[in-house]
Amino acid sequence: MAMNIHLIAGARPFERAMKPVRWAFSSHGIANLTLPWLAGLIPPRHHVTIQDEQVAPLDLGAPMDLALITAKTCYAPRAYAVAATLRARGVPVVMGGCHASLYPDEVQGHVDSVVLGEAEPIIQQLLFDAADGCLQARYIGGAVSFDGLPLPRRDLLPKRYIIDAVHASRGCSHSCGFCCMRSVYGPGYRARPVGETIDELRGLSPYLGFHDENLVADREHARELFTAMIPLGKLWMGQASVDIMEDPELIELAGRAGCTGFLTGMETISQANLVAANKTQNDVAAYGAMIQACHEAGIAVGAAMLFGLDHDTPDSFAETVQAMHDLEVDQAYFKIVTPYPGTRYFDELAAQGRILTRDWQYYDGCFPVFEPLHLTPRQLFEGACWARQEFYRYRHVARRMRNVRRLRLPWWAQLNMNRLARDAFADGEPWGERLLQEIEA
Ligand code: SF4
Repeated sequence: MAMNIHLIAGARPFERAMKPVRWAFSSHGIANLTLPWLAGLIPPRHHVTIQDEQVAPLDLGAPMDLALITAKTCYAPRAYAVAATLRARGVPVVMGGCHASLYPDEVQGHVDSVVLGEAEPIIQQLLFDAADGCLQARYIGGAVSFDGLPLPRRDLLPKRYIIDAVHASRGCSHSCGFCCMRSVYGPGYRARPVGETIDELRGLSPYLGFHDENLVADREHARELFTAMIPLGKLWMGQASVDIMEDPELIELAGRAGCTGFLTGMETISQANLVAANKTQNDVAAYGAMIQACHEAGIAVGAAMLFGLDHDTPDSFAETVQAMHDLEVDQAYFKIVTPYPGTRYFDELAAQGRILTRDWQYYDGCFPVFEPLHLTPRQLFEGACWARQEFYRYRHVARRMRNVRRLRLPWWAQLNMNRLARDAFADGEPWGERLLQEIEA
């Protein structure tokens, strides 16, 4: 039986309130690939619609036979509200994604069926069951091979994006204590056949964003991919682990393949924090060499930094911002470490009585949801906000713009990225104050 299937991703209230122009040029300048990937797996006899609340208001009154909702932890409350509205209409609701994989017992109470892990292995069975009106309570997906997977249905996206998102691999070979990737994707890293990635890239925008957790996890795969990308003439960004500095030839090859920037998970300038978090592939003393090698190849470096790890103190904010200046990173993203429910990290903090809220909408890396060891929750939140404002002060942006000629990314794009990074969390700050008042009451 052909079904009218809606693939749905929700947004939080402060995101829904953003002005359309800011919205269009915020993080959503790059498409979310999850729903198009899922749509690509659905046979053409079904009619598929993508509803992404980050882009347009949801239409929950639309005719539909089945709703598939995806949600990270911070979107779980919105997903539950959407599910309740649809189920009241008699629409069967299935939920997958990070939160469903991490915390299925809770999710089960809000939907008709939960998908754990990657949906590809079970989606056909799920659709047969839905058509027959006998959805199972749980479908266990699991890690899939990338070989021969259908392409994402970008034609269903509600708007055209300036930067096309793409995947060349999935998963991660590391196991950092604060990260939920292994709980969602399982252990290990899977590379997509280079020929399939290249075929997909040919039809995409000249500007690409690789969504891989670590594009250079398998150096031989990365080498083959970058070499094949050179004739395409695309400009792109991706995420790379700090240990790429061990391979200057690979950095140089990435530059020739059109890499404009790598986002690197430096996380902290405290080696003690890295050891405690089992992020042993990072060596703080090597950050400078990695950044210099990237700059020599014309590649900008973005630093993903975390506050709130157990060795952080009130001095960590200023020391970290100063280190970012000294290292000459081109972008820095200051977040707060977040213990996602369903992970061992969450369970450990809960056992220590350090979880401060179970309101999942705050679990996005921007809010203090647990009791830090050497900081108050207020110091943690306000320190992270201060670091963002300080790093993106006009005089610092102007100084970084003087170095822009050494980079492949055009100056106007660099300037815009600084502006976006500075403003990215402005709408969330009042929410942080609201959470702090709840915690401190
Ligand atoms: S390297 Fe990155 S993606 Fe991999 S486990 Fe560590 S934080 Fe997670």
